[in-house]
Amino acid sequence: MPIDPNFKKNLTIKDNHNGHAVWGEIEPPNKLGIHGTNVAVDLDICYGCLRCINVCTVNVFVKYPTPGNPVSKLKVDPINENDCFFCLACEMVCPVDAILIERKSSGDTLSSLLDY
Ligand code: SF4
Ligand code: SF4
Repeated sequence: MPIDPNFKKNLTIKDNHNGHAVWGEIEPPNKLGIHGTNVAVDLDICYGCLRCINVCTVNVFVKYPTPGNPVSKLKVDPINENDCFFCLACEMVCPVDAILIERKSSGDTLSSLLDY
């Protein structure tokens, strides 16, 4: 299941981690919630393939050890989400759709943003 595209309406902020919000129910190490707001990563979907880290040219993500988590002992954390310039590359390469990048307006879709 991909990250909830309406998580800001459906969930509330439950914590602050390394300067960014954590959304949804949190029960570490099993349930970790959605980290970040403009660059949101559902850590309950992420399995730590690190493709997003490799593709982001402004180092928004860092490796995030998650010992004891049933999905993966390593995930990513969008600690530099304010540096994002909304290229959407990370969102496109994530195999499990764990990332949601803020759109410039509510009508933006991935295809419309790419249709230059
Ligand atoms: S949208 Fe682009 S700049 Fe923003 S976090 Fe993803 S890869 Fe980095
Ligand atoms: S690309 Fe997706 S699954 Fe891979 S580390 Fe990034 S958020 Fe996690």
